[in-house]
Amino acid sequence: MRAPTTQASHSNLSTDGAYPVGLSFDVEEHDRIETAAHLSVGAELKETYARRMEDTTNWLLDQLGARGIRATFFVVGQIARSHPRLVRRMAEEGHEVGSHSWEHKRVHQFDASSFREDLRRSMDALSEVTGQPVVGFRAPTFSVVRQTSWAIDVLAEAGLLYDSSIFPVRHDRYGVPEAPRSAFIVEGERNELLELPLLTLRALGQNLPVAGGGYFRLFPLAVMQRGIRQAARRSHSPAVLYFHPWEFDPDQPRLPLSRLSRFRTYVGVKRTRGRLVKLLDGYQFTPMRELAQQIAQKRDELPRFRLASK
Ligand SMILES: [Zn+2]
Repeated sequence: MRAPTTQASHSNLSTDGAYPVGLSFDVEEHDRIETAAHLSVGAELKETYARRMEDTTNWLLDQLGARGIRATFFVVGQIARSHPRLVRRMAEEGHEVGSHSWEHKRVHQFDASSFREDLRRSMDALSEVTGQPVVGFRAPTFSVVRQTSWAIDVLAEAGLLYDSSIFPVRHDRYGVPEAPRSAFIVEGERNELLELPLLTLRALGQNLPVAGGGYFRLFPLAVMQRGIRQAARRSHSPAVLYFHPWEFDPDQPRLPLSRLSRFRTYVGVKRTRGRLVKLLDGYQFTPMRELAQQIAQKRDELPRFRLASK
């Protein structure tokens, strides 16, 4: 296995029998982030964030297009209504459009029946705009956890091919630390689904969430690259990465967050554009849907993990 390069060659890792890297973007306006849920953001600022989300997502699409890279955009359903052109562009350029719920509420705020309704609304709105079925889901704030295991039943019964919401880490807001780090079959209360968990790095006896977020912005890129190398050594273990448009918008107005949240949210946003470009030039990437289709053929070889407690 060769080490990943930062040159524009796509000759590393994924050609050596491992999977290409699963590249995903969770598309929401900045004021929808969980840390800001308690704030009342004025209409003018909301409009600003909506405009900046559109501009930054177009920048991301330009970067991917210039390199012939296709990815997955997990989009908040309401954005299909407010920005249909943007969502259509994703599909037209060969990207997968998956669901990131209807309005970015955590799964904890629903019961099975209201979650089903929320999911259905988002899937309908997205596929209406793209003309393609939605087959993948990413929960806001990775909120598919033990407590919300019924969500797996709802997702499976909605006909989805895969979920990518489980983060096998210990974290104050999300995480299922004992879940497998490679692709697995997740069992809900009565149904099951293919799960593509977010990338972790095993170090110092624990799983570190190196798939994106603060780890991408705060630590050297080498940390994420190490996680990608580890994943390539495990079987059925594509590295799944996630980013948000607002993380690539260093000049956006800041939300009035507490000091810790402010640090977590904005650390490193000035260097993310350059860092992403470097990453894009270093690996082969693929939309999550294609990983899921490939891995679903080896279903019998995958580990099973029961998320529901009984
Ligand atoms: Zn989100």
